[in-house]
Amino acid sequence: MRFLVAENEQPYADHLQKMIKKCCPENVKIDHVTTAQEAKAHLDTNYYELCFLGYDLDNPAGGMDVLKSLHNTTALTAFVILSSHANKEAAFDALTLGAMDYIIKDRFTEFELSKCVSYSMYLKLREVGLQKEALHDSLTGLGNKGLFDAQLKQASQRAKRDNEKLGLLVIDVDKFKYVNDKYGHKVGDQLLQQIAERIVGETRSSDVVARIGGDEFAAILIKPKSADHVYAVREKIEKALSATPYNIDGIVIKAGASVGCAVLPDDSEDLDKLFSAADVQMYKHKNTKKVLMGHSRDYLDQVLR
Ligand SMILES: [Mg+2]
Repeated sequence: MRFLVAENEQPYADHLQKMIKKCCPENVKIDHVTTAQEAKAHLDTNYYELCFLGYDLDNPAGGMDVLKSLHNTTALTAFVILSSHANKEAAFDALTLGAMDYIIKDRFTEFELSKCVSYSMYLKLREVGLQKEALHDSLTGLGNKGLFDAQLKQASQRAKRDNEKLGLLVIDVDKFKYVNDKYGHKVGDQLLQQIAERIVGETRSSDVVARIGGDEFAAILIKPKSADHVYAVREKIEKALSATPYNIDGIVIKAGASVGCAVLPDDSEDLDKLFSAADVQMYKHKNTKKVLMGHSRDYLDQVLR
């Protein structure tokens, strides 16, 4: 789970982060910012499940300004306003602006915070008509196709608005069917988990990695320096996935993946076309490997897919 804590009172921000870690001990990542401007920038380029926004963030009602400016662009993030004032009108305004809750800073316990996190996320998911399971892949913990599509749409809108590029990578594991048939699904599942870890290891925390199908992954490279940077990351991931064999409960498996990429707006501004361009390149790489190995096409179609 990814949290953003936008709070300018340092001791309070520290306290809140400690409490979040206690409430949600598994896989929590927390970013902390102290100004409204930083909060907007982080929300613009990262996906957070929940954002705590200080009401008085660097100027009176600064948190509310952030809420006003982002309400329509961060459709999947739940916001909670942190305030020092028990002010009914302010609380009502926050909820009207789309916040899921309005809590008074020094008056809640760990239990209340944990309740606030669960409720806020539940309400947000209900609002967007989804369930948590509908957004994440339980095997790898990564986002799934539904979440990825929404994140890609958001990221592309921001890239167009800011005149920035965006990189899209599609990654298809080679020989996955072969691994599954030979060693069984349990080993296949663990291979996918290790592959997911390697992909995440080659990307920045602001990038997005998802499992979009059985043995298919995808990534969004946010604000790449250039198209060349996207090509370089494509190559780096393809190498990292095949550089060393995978050790799964003592079984050593040589595996790898074919990776294709496309750059917005260079290849297309249309997301379906961008996906197709990355797919075409991915299959090109896969076919090159097939030819290099010199096997019959039928055999390889079965084995490499
Ligand atoms: Mg495959």
